[in-house]
Amino acid sequence: MVPRKFFFAVMLLVGWGWSSPISKAQVANSETPSSPSATADAAPNTKPPAHKFWDRENAWLFTGVAVSRALDYTSTRNFLARGRTEVLIPDDVVNSQAGFPALEAAGAATSVGISYIMHHYGHHKLERWVSIVHIGVTTFGAAHNHALESKQP
Ligand SMILES: [Zn+2]
Repeated sequence: MVPRKFFFAVMLLVGWGWSSPISKAQVANSETPSSPSATADAAPNTKPPAHKFWDRENAWLFTGVAVSRALDYTSTRNFLARGRTEVLIPDDVVNSQAGFPALEAAGAATSVGISYIMHHYGHHKLERWVSIVHIGVTTFGAAHNHALESKQP
């Protein structure tokens, strides 16, 4: 695991995701009071129907998240076997046969949970991007782990 990947993931989500609803809200507030009735009439025709949370796209994205966590697990075991040390999580967790896989599973479950929250509140694009960013950053981290030079203790 590389600590920077979590930093990048959080920064992407905060910077890209949560800024856009706020800026839209500010635009909406600056409009005149007569506009809400006009937008309410137009809204039912323009808003796409909400999809089921466990649709085909999310199934593929969550599979991708699980695969990327598995790559993170195997790449971390790989660089530990080559004499490197894990800096983000304690050694007794990393070296645990059960604890480290459980941590990876918790990471994937948390990602799906965040996607569900986005879906629940109608942020369907952001819901997908949680998985896309997770896959991208985690896979990059796994490739980085494999690229680390071996150290002989
Ligand atoms: Zn959705």
